[in-house]
Amino acid sequence: MADFRVLADELAQLRTEGRYRPLRVWESPQGVSMMSGGKTYLQFSSNNYLGLTGHDDVKRAAVQAIERYGVGSGSVRTIVGTLDVHAALEAELARFKGTEAALVFQSGYTANLAALSSILGADDAVISDELNHASIIDGIRLTKATRKVYAHKSMEQLEKLLRESASFRQRVVVTDGVFSMDGDIAPLPDIVALAERYDALVYVDDAHASGVLGRSGKGSVEHFGLYGRVHVQIGTLSKALGVTGGYVAGSSTLIDYLLHKARPFLFSTAPTPAVAASCLAAVQVLERCPQLVRRLWDNADYMRSGLQALGFDTGASETPIIPIVIGDPAATARFSDLLAEDGLFAQSIVFPMVAWDKGRVRLIVTAEHSRQDLDLALACLERAGKAEGLLSA
Ligand SMILES: *Cc1c(COP(=O)(O)O)cnc(C)c1O
Repeated sequence: MADFRVLADELAQLRTEGRYRPLRVWESPQGVSMMSGGKTYLQFSSNNYLGLTGHDDVKRAAVQAIERYGVGSGSVRTIVGTLDVHAALEAELARFKGTEAALVFQSGYTANLAALSSILGADDAVISDELNHASIIDGIRLTKATRKVYAHKSMEQLEKLLRESASFRQRVVVTDGVFSMDGDIAPLPDIVALAERYDALVYVDDAHASGVLGRSGKGSVEHFGLYGRVHVQIGTLSKALGVTGGYVAGSSTLIDYLLHKARPFLFSTAPTPAVAASCLAAVQVLERCPQLVRRLWDNADYMRSGLQALGFDTGASETPIIPIVIGDPAATARFSDLLAEDGLFAQSIVFPMVAWDKGRVRLIVTAEHSRQDLDLALACLERAGKAEGLLSA
């Protein structure tokens, strides 16, 4: 009888390389302090940047939506799946992002697949940063467009690729707003200037930038003052906004086109009423409470300086995503395990998420962490860093 020997061999190989990671099961809500296996951890790995997963207004919106509409949305959006809460959420997101329109998808991942596979055709060129998120890479794989990749944030290479793409029907430059593994920010003003010079469209994935970048958390466009100059903005509702889902924001032409063409929109059931309503409430909380964003940045800056003062390599981080770059997968996993034994949870991230020798423990600081939490974490990281020889003893 046939079996999965091939897969089992690959799994065994992952174990030898220190890349095998069993799923950890948590028994408590998202938060600074979380319980797993009966043990409480100080947690630095959630994308719940602003603490909205448990916000009273957001939870209440979900409960009320369930009571009013039930739990399911019945069909895809184009049949009977578009409720007034979906329309209200999309209007709110367009206002939030400063665009004519927005369209909601089941996840940020899906939003990228949907947008890239719809916008791009065989006669187009897509020009992508080498460190763009997997969902961008996968979205590009679904198109017949010519794919060109520039070295991370290299404007020289981007310009060269734009120059040699003049004969394509459309040129689309795609970048993460905040890069999810390194926590650095894309040089969007330079990208936009080059795109304008070479008649290209600009596509920014703000999954880690929405709710984070910009004075009121509106993302890369607000941060750099680029209103009206970015053609496609992708966002997720599952990170800073604390719920689940993704969206595309842009011109009404773009949104109207996606509504007719995007396969995840046409062939996958609409987000549930509770999801749409709680996302709407979350955006409204963010608009009402810009101080959450300020607290997030105060905490991130405090933590990053603290780590650097201890002597850790925090790579290119300039946001609440702070990697501690360690190296090979096994050493990285060991460091993460040591922290966990000491009550600090910070997930290790290894190949293929990052290059083989760039394994890291990635810390995500949130607005909910107190100064005391940050100091406790720094002390714990210092102990583990010395024990592992990452810091001089
Ligand atoms: C997390 C992430 C996504 C996927 O968003 P989900 O809502 O989790 O599917 C897309 N792009 C980037 C850059 C991300 O970091």
